[in-house]
Amino acid sequence: MKRSQLRAIPAVEKVLQALGDAGLPRPLVLDVVRRELAALRKSQSVPEFDAVVAQIREALRELGGSRIRPLLNGTGILIHTNFGRAPLAERVIEAVAEIGARYNNLEYGLAGGRRGGRAAYLERSLAVLCGAEAATVVNNNAAALVLILRHFCHSGSAGTRSAPPRNEVIISRGELVQIGGGFRIPDILETSGARLREVGATNKTTLSDYSRAVSRETALILKVHRSNFFMDGFVESPGTEEIAALARSKKVPFVEDLGSGAMIETETIAGLEHEPTPAEVIRRGVDLVCFSGDKLLGGPQAGLIAGKAKLIDSLKRDPFFRALRCDKLILAALEATVDAYLCGEPNLPTLRMLRMTADELRRRAQVLCEALAGLPLRATAGSGRAQIGGGTLPRSAIESVTLDLAHNSIPPQEFAARLRDQPLPVIGYVARGAVKLDLRTIFRDQDAALLAAIRAACNS
Ligand SMILES: *Cc1c(COP(=O)(O)O)cnc(C)c1O
Repeated sequence: MKRSQLRAIPAVEKVLQALGDAGLPRPLVLDVVRRELAALRKSQSVPEFDAVVAQIREALRELGGSRIRPLLNGTGILIHTNFGRAPLAERVIEAVAEIGARYNNLEYGLAGGRRGGRAAYLERSLAVLCGAEAATVVNNNAAALVLILRHFCHSGSAGTRSAPPRNEVIISRGELVQIGGGFRIPDILETSGARLREVGATNKTTLSDYSRAVSRETALILKVHRSNFFMDGFVESPGTEEIAALARSKKVPFVEDLGSGAMIETETIAGLEHEPTPAEVIRRGVDLVCFSGDKLLGGPQAGLIAGKAKLIDSLKRDPFFRALRCDKLILAALEATVDAYLCGEPNLPTLRMLRMTADELRRRAQVLCEALAGLPLRATAGSGRAQIGGGTLPRSAIESVTLDLAHNSIPPQEFAARLRDQPLPVIGYVARGAVKLDLRTIFRDQDAALLAAIRAACNS
């Protein structure tokens, strides 16, 4: 690119004209143009006009690409945090559309004709699903945990002997984990005003470690499900029942962060281990359990809390609860999701994908391969290992089937980039000289779109 210190910065109007229709709202285009020109002004040397326009066009393309839009997930990772976690069921989407587009009884008691409670139906149905006395919901599981910690931790009044601090949270060293980006249990504790009281060792914690740590300053005992990694070998930790009995005898709340919130017996699916359900840990004696709405539950982003009615009521009276409450769209989506479980036929996309057999997928792969005949690539059915993802069941892999694409002249990394660059982007992974697209996470009704994207990638 030829640069000159003498060349003038082009006029905004002239650049706008040269850009033509960028497919973005005009104020956004204008903003990008102004920013890019301002950067040029600072850089002291100005490229030729065409190069300036090309650079701005690239910046616009990047901005447009960051807009939220659908894509085809060929990674085989079912609950992919980068891809919006759980896709929602049809009837869940219908509920969201219906409630979102018109007025509704969000906080209105129809019988009395006046202001009513919020989320009453959802809270009851969620409690029933979890086998708990009560339940409630906030924006995500991180928020649920922060609410619980803040609520039960009191720093006491400085200088008065009558109110000692009660803000220690007892947790095993084996559970001081990081879950995904920016979620570290020790940091969450700290921002919530809790003091960390670590017990045991990374691989071994005993009941007496817990018991010795309980004091007048204990606010609660926290158990965090190791959702995204596993430990093997010389490993020991007391059972939930034992910790629950200890917590009861010491009169401190026992809380478990379960993470994924599986409502089905995951071990009935080939390749999966058992994932504890909220109902199961409540039966074992935890006072409160919290988990995500958009992981294995298969619903929208939310943080669900279930357990003792007294504790749930108390959480809901906390002024901070108001700052974390869900809106009508999430409540509608969650209600429909929980209803689907209670009706005994949760026809949710994530569960359907889990249950798909390898034979089914192989047949689909064959049809796709035949449809791709004539293109300058070799399309074959390959084998893959799908995963739950979302920091869940890290040890489990489900036998899966991939569509393997090896282009005759384009290297796989570049072909993968071309697939990502389509109007409906396709994301796969490269292995053994081919782009692999796991069919378990690509919806069957997206097969035609998948074929179109592959053809376009060959021609682009
Ligand atoms: C995923 C996860 C969280 C965070 O949940 P979000 O809904 O993403 O806020 C917290 N704890 C555990 C154990 C998790 O697996």
